[in-house]
Amino acid sequence: MAYTYKRRIENIEISFFTDVLKEYGYNIRALDLFKKIGELSKKSGFKAFIVGGFVRDLIIYDIKRQKNRNINNIMNGLYKKDNVLDIDFSIEGDATIIAGIIKNEIKKNVVSIKIHKRFKTAKAVFSLNGRLLTIDLATARIETYTCPGALPKVSFADLRSDISRRDFTINTIALSLDPGEFLSIKDHSCGLNDIYEKKLRILHPLSFIDDPTRIFRAVRFEKRFGFTIEPETKRLLLQAVSDGAISSVSGKRIMTELKLILKEKKPAVYFERLEELGILKAISAELRFDEENKRVFKNISSFFKINKDFYLDIDPAVFYMAGLLFGLPVSNIGRILKRLNIGENIEKRLNLIYSDYNSLLLIKNSKNLQKMKKSEVYSTLKRFDKYSLLFFVLKLFLDNPEDRIIKRLIMIYINKLSKILPLIGGSDLKSLKIAEGPLYGEILNRVKLLKIDGKLKTKKEELFYVKNNFTGSASVTGHI
Ligand code: ATP
Repeated sequence: MAYTYKRRIENIEISFFTDVLKEYGYNIRALDLFKKIGELSKKSGFKAFIVGGFVRDLIIYDIKRQKNRNINNIMNGLYKKDNVLDIDFSIEGDATIIAGIIKNEIKKNVVSIKIHKRFKTAKAVFSLNGRLLTIDLATARIETYTCPGALPKVSFADLRSDISRRDFTINTIALSLDPGEFLSIKDHSCGLNDIYEKKLRILHPLSFIDDPTRIFRAVRFEKRFGFTIEPETKRLLLQAVSDGAISSVSGKRIMTELKLILKEKKPAVYFERLEELGILKAISAELRFDEENKRVFKNISSFFKINKDFYLDIDPAVFYMAGLLFGLPVSNIGRILKRLNIGENIEKRLNLIYSDYNSLLLIKNSKNLQKMKKSEVYSTLKRFDKYSLLFFVLKLFLDNPEDRIIKRLIMIYINKLSKILPLIGGSDLKSLKIAEGPLYGEILNRVKLLKIDGKLKTKKEELFYVKNNFTGSASVTGHI
């Protein structure tokens, strides 16, 4: 259903703009910075605009705000406090000149400014009350494509023409920073209307042919915002897919798009759509997304939603990829990974995940898991990589009691048992006059297993145990 609205937005109110910036953790300095860039641009005879996703999101929040005054609800958890804002600016003029002026005039908050003369772009990083803010400055330009999938030819232009190189109308809206019209909306392609109508629309019929990665972006924005790809855009998308547009895109670029989708909250919904639109098959004939893939994707999303902070070192994309390819014949997996140019490291990791999966299945089916001592659980699972163990958990059916048991044991192993270490070390063994050698490892392992079973608690107890069992000169009595 389209958004209803009381008033059509013509500009973003300064107070709302400041509130949103506050949500990102920035203070009033951020607003001053935008004003200053607008003023400096004007002084140079140029015009500065905020463009891209930030403007689109701001407008969506503003529309939602008409219904719901609580800004936290409006932001809908999209932005985390630790997110650094990365905003795109379009300069009618020369972005590199503005970047140079910013460097000289706004010295205090500038962390770095990098200028790319060739493309007339610049990246400025600011520090505002301890938080970084990145601004990508681009000179307004037109891009023309010589052949599908290739890099475009660039020539410089005004904002209206600059818009033509963008992907969807909802991403073409600009916010002026010009002092006379600060935060007024520049909508040259009816993007605002499409936001109100919740429609995703390309700007010209050859858009998907010029850049087929837009096919993936269409699915990403459609599902993220709950929009629909409008009929003509959908027809052109399907046409591009069936005409083989995706085959001109490199594996790396496809993987970049898939990874962006995998960062969304519920990738299963996006992959269902990729399947429905024939996009997965266009990547590789054997690729599909069925009910089982969906079930595993959902398990992965809910797991990382709850446990994200405990597994900061782990990239959920690996699990989604493992879940996507699981069950396919090995030769097909090989072909798909090659097509996606996925890289040796991930390929190795996936292969290990799959071979460990079979071993873990044997363990699940053969052992009387519930009766195992903790040290036995440790010894059984220690040869497995954390990724393999977690993937196995994420593939389980949790309404099955047996699956719940092994899940509990694996999680205890990952979160607790694998982290238990003896309090004594090599130097303690040395001071007990035990000859250095492989026995050290064996002793420390025995101590670790006893600790895991709760039989050794303090360092003193560990030393007693070693003295009593591995030296001929036990000076303290007592055994474990
Ligand atoms: P997100 O919220 O996912 O970061 P975004 O719109 O900010 O979305 P970016 O990939 O950072 O996405 O792109 C910034 C802007 O650059 C987009 O809003 C869009 O206008 C333009 N853009 C990015 N990729 C393309 C593309 N393949 N074709 C045309 N325009 C693009």
